[in-house]
Amino acid sequence: MAEKILIYDTTLRDGSQGEGISLSVEDKLKIASRLDRLGVDYIEGGWPWANPKDMEFFLRAREVIWRQARLVAFGRTRKPGQAAAEDANLLAIKRAGVKVATIFGKSWDLHVTAALGTTLAENLAMIGDSVAFLVDQGLEVIYDAEHFFDGFKANPDYALETLKAAAKAGASWIVLCDTNGGCLPWEIEEAVARVRQEIQVPVGIHAHNDGDLAVANTLAAVTAGCRQVQGTINGFGERCGNADLCSVMPNLELKMGYQCLPPGQLAFLTEVSRYVSEIANVVPAGNQPFVGYSAFAHKGGIHVSAVLKAPDTYEHIRPQQVGNERRVLMSDQAGASNLRCKAEEMGLELNPERERSIIEGIKELERQGYQFEGADASLELFLRKTTGEYRQQFEVEYVKALVEKRAGQEAISEAIVKLRVGDQVVHTAAEGNGPVNAMDNALRKALEEVFPAIRHMRLTDYKVRVLDEKDATSARVRVLIESRDGSNSWNTVGVSTNIIEASWEALLDSMEYALLKQQQELNKRAAAPGEPY
Ligand SMILES: [Zn+2]
Repeated sequence: MAEKILIYDTTLRDGSQGEGISLSVEDKLKIASRLDRLGVDYIEGGWPWANPKDMEFFLRAREVIWRQARLVAFGRTRKPGQAAAEDANLLAIKRAGVKVATIFGKSWDLHVTAALGTTLAENLAMIGDSVAFLVDQGLEVIYDAEHFFDGFKANPDYALETLKAAAKAGASWIVLCDTNGGCLPWEIEEAVARVRQEIQVPVGIHAHNDGDLAVANTLAAVTAGCRQVQGTINGFGERCGNADLCSVMPNLELKMGYQCLPPGQLAFLTEVSRYVSEIANVVPAGNQPFVGYSAFAHKGGIHVSAVLKAPDTYEHIRPQQVGNERRVLMSDQAGASNLRCKAEEMGLELNPERERSIIEGIKELERQGYQFEGADASLELFLRKTTGEYRQQFEVEYVKALVEKRAGQEAISEAIVKLRVGDQVVHTAAEGNGPVNAMDNALRKALEEVFPAIRHMRLTDYKVRVLDEKDATSARVRVLIESRDGSNSWNTVGVSTNIIEASWEALLDSMEYALLKQQQELNKRAAAPGEPY
């Protein structure tokens, strides 16, 4: 049996301190439930004293039945010169109604004297009293030693004294924090080894990513004996973020032979990563290791033909192990093997003659300015259309976009769309904050009447690139659109000398693709009616 490493997620507390991330109570409850299903051991929900929203989270979380995870309330040690039982922040943890508390305290002598303005002895008493108070309330107490590694460098004896104070008072875990995120892996390893000689309580690691080493430092700490790792989904967090659990967990499980999640759960990692980005309204980084959209994307023809014969040639793990997928990118660098692989993914049959004509077709489109690397969905539609495997679900009779700007007034945009679906004609008009948005609204309104599921999709990104800058306004533009529904996202492309036409083309592809996927899903369900979905 693989040795267990406990996973402590702090996406909701440390992660939500990242710039541009703001989570409502509802968002936090959703993320916590998903993390619980994934099988993490601890979910730090927030700091109930510092933030009323966090207290509300804990009160509402009591109504949820948690399968695996223990909810944790965060706080700090008592104030200097005050009794723990009278400290509002410790009392708030008690009121949060959780079974586990994490409190942080100072390990660095400089912080004690300069920031807290108290004595080294009083700081030790603050740590001991605060831990003991919460233990007396029947809580499991995790002690986060803030700035431990920097403190250990400055004054190792005192830094170790602070840990001993927490251990003696009954802390279940001592977690060593690289709060400033500037340590190197070998420094971490050495310090953790020393701590383990000095204290009997199990040790954890909390690393920040300022030196781009949070994951490496976490793994080094585990090598030296830490058995709890703290981090966030997608590495969200203050400044450069926390250790990314989406990298920490697969490294620990797949490379180092530890067990982090219940068996089989690692295969849901990509889904959870994208779900959390979605809720936090953050565009996922394509090049994020393990779970990123490009993590298993192969472009060059030589790579692709090799990876198809033997995945180990260009993949460090199987993408399925973390729930990701291999993607073969089509571009003018790509050869027939990329195309074959792509067609196979879509269940299309290609003969050599068809293959050649499709590659020619793609090269011609790329010459005109199309780029399919970032537009998988448009590529799929192109392949299906050229192989005759595509059933048109609707036809556009016309589209009209108007922009009106009168002196002293705001510009108004309006679009009119006329579609034919079977023998039904749908005619709609809609306004928008710009012509593309108006066209999107009008097209969506028309399609929703016949295909209600289209309601769940939305555009999440819109990019315009001018292709031939020498030509000024007559230059071609390429529009890339990203759309999403739930956890799926897809990209489409349009090219024209007219920005509205290019946008319309990408928009249309996006909707056609959404309908294609919905149709495929329905066919799959019809083929296997007993399967739960
Ligand atoms: Zn932190």
